[in-house]
Amino acid sequence: MPKTKQAVALQSEETNPFLMVQQQIDAICQKINISETCRVRIRECERELIVRFPVKMDDGHVELFTGYRIQHNDSRGPSKGGIRYHPDVTLDDTRALATLMTLKSAVVNIPYGGAKGAVACDPKKLSRNELERLTRRYASEISLIIGPERDIPAPDVGTNPQVMAWIMDTYSMNKGYSVLGVVTGKPLELGGSKGRFEATGRGCTICARLTSKHLGISLNGAKVVVQGFGNVGLTTAKLMANEGCRIIGVSDSRGGIYNPNGLDMESVIRHKNEAGSVIDFNGAENITNNELLGLECDILIPAAMEHQIHEGNADSVKTKIIVEGANGPTTTEAAHILREKRIFIVPDILANAGGVVVSYFEWVQGLQSFFWSEDEVNHQLQRVMDNAFHEVLEISQREKVDMGEAAYMLAIKRISDTMEARGIFP
Ligand code: NAD
Repeated sequence: MPKTKQAVALQSEETNPFLMVQQQIDAICQKINISETCRVRIRECERELIVRFPVKMDDGHVELFTGYRIQHNDSRGPSKGGIRYHPDVTLDDTRALATLMTLKSAVVNIPYGGAKGAVACDPKKLSRNELERLTRRYASEISLIIGPERDIPAPDVGTNPQVMAWIMDTYSMNKGYSVLGVVTGKPLELGGSKGRFEATGRGCTICARLTSKHLGISLNGAKVVVQGFGNVGLTTAKLMANEGCRIIGVSDSRGGIYNPNGLDMESVIRHKNEAGSVIDFNGAENITNNELLGLECDILIPAAMEHQIHEGNADSVKTKIIVEGANGPTTTEAAHILREKRIFIVPDILANAGGVVVSYFEWVQGLQSFFWSEDEVNHQLQRVMDNAFHEVLEISQREKVDMGEAAYMLAIKRISDTMEARGIFP
C-alpha cells in the first residue's frame, strides 16, 4: 500500500499567508486607485497545478507525495519562482509565495511574472537516490506548464543547484535536446551564473548598506543578528561581516548562538558544516530562536521561514533596522507593533530580490549562450538593487508610508499598468 505524504491543508485566517498577502493587495489597490478588474486579478493566482505522484523508496515501498506549481501572474513576462521541499508546505503557502514573486519582480523591474512550486516532503530524511527520483518525477509532472518562455523554477528552502540540475535534465530528456533556460540556480558547469548562489544574501547586504547610509548608521562595528543559516542567512552574515559589522547572533532550525563581542563567521561556517548546526559553537552561548530575535542590535535579518516575528514576540525585538531576508517573516500584526517602535523595515519583496535578479541574469546568459564574469554580475545586481531601493524610498517619503507599503505600491502600479495595456482577451 503506498503511504500518503499529505500537506497540512487547513490554516487559520490569522496564519494563512495567502490571505495576508491578499489583504495587503486589497488595501494598496484601494489606496492608489487600481481598477476593480486589476485588483481581483492581482489578488488571485492565474494557474494552479496540484500533483500527487508515487516515488519508489530505497527499501522498495512506494510513497505518494503531493506537489504544487502555482503561476500567479504573467502579465509582465514568463512566471518565475523557486521550488520548496518542506514537510509542512501547503497550497496556500505556495500561492502566497507565487504572489510575492510577481510583486518582487515588479519592484526590481525585471520582465517576469511570479510562480512557486513545492513538494510536501522532508528532504533531510530522503537518501540522495530518493531525492533524485522524487525530483525527476515531480519535474515530469510539472513539465506540463514550465518552460524557458513560460515558467522558470529556481531553488528555495530545501532545494539546491543539484535539484535544479535534475529538473533541467529531466525536462531536456523529455524534449530530446538540452534546455538550459528551463531553470535557474543551476550548477556553474551546467549554465549556472557566477554569483547566483550568493545573490540573495548580496541583495540583503546591499539593502542593509543603503538603509544604514539613509539613517546615518555606520556599518563599521554595527551589531547584526541573523536568523536562519542556509543560503540566504549564511551568505548575508558572511557579507555583512566583510562590511565590518559585528555578527553577534546567528541561528538555524535547531537554535541560536550569541557572543556580544562578535562571532568569527568562517569558524561558525566550518562548525555548521561539521556538526550540522550552529549550536554548541565553541566561544558562544546557546540561545533559543526566540531569544535571538530579542537580542539588542542595529540590524536584524530574519532569513529563515515565514511568520517568525509575530504578535507574541514583536514587542521584544530591539533593533533599528530589519532586512527581511526570508519571505513573509513578519506577520501583519507584528508589522504594526514594529512600526510603533519606529523600526525601519526593508520588506521581503525588495530585500531578498537579489536572487530573482541574478536568476534573470542567468536566464539571459543561458538564452544567449554568453556568460558574464562575476564582477559583471555583481555590478549589475548592485545597479538594479540600488535603483529599486531608491524608487521605493522615494515613494515612501512622498506618500508618507513605510517601505513595505511603498514597495507594494510600486509593484502593483507596474503590474496593473501592463494589464491595462494588454487588455482582456478575447
Ligand atoms: P535554506 O533551506 O538554505 O535555509 C533555511 C535556514 O533556516 C536553515 O539554516 C534552517 O535550519 C533555518 N530554519 C528553518 N526553520 C527555522 C526556524 N524556525 N528558526 C530558525 N531557523 C530556521 O533556505 P534559503 O534558501 O536560505 O531560504 C530562506 C528564506 O529566504 C525563505 O523564506 C526563502 O523563501 C527566502 N528566499 C530565498 C531565496 C534564495 O535565493 N534561496 C530567495 C528569496 C527568498
